Amino acid sequence: MSDTDKPTLNKAPQMYVHYCEEDECMEWGGFGFSPSKAVPSRWWCWEHFPHKTNEQEKALMEKLNATDKVLKQ
Ligand SMILES: [Zn+2]
Repeated sequence: MSDTDKPTLNKAPQMYVHYCEEDECMEWGGFGFSPSKAVPSRWWCWEHFPHKTNEQEKALMEKLNATDKVLKQ
């Protein structure tokens, strides 16, 4: 029995399985980036996502602060 005997249907689907590509980071890679359609997307967690803008970061912090306030009430 060898791997080459397996039908291609047994291949694990590549979609939806993408953790942060940072070494030793086990976070879910919820933030993808691809420079073009010809390039497969790369995925990172928010902390390691290298393409976030200041606006995005600010919005996220405001969201976190808002959640924090709600929890404290
Ligand atoms: Zn990460």
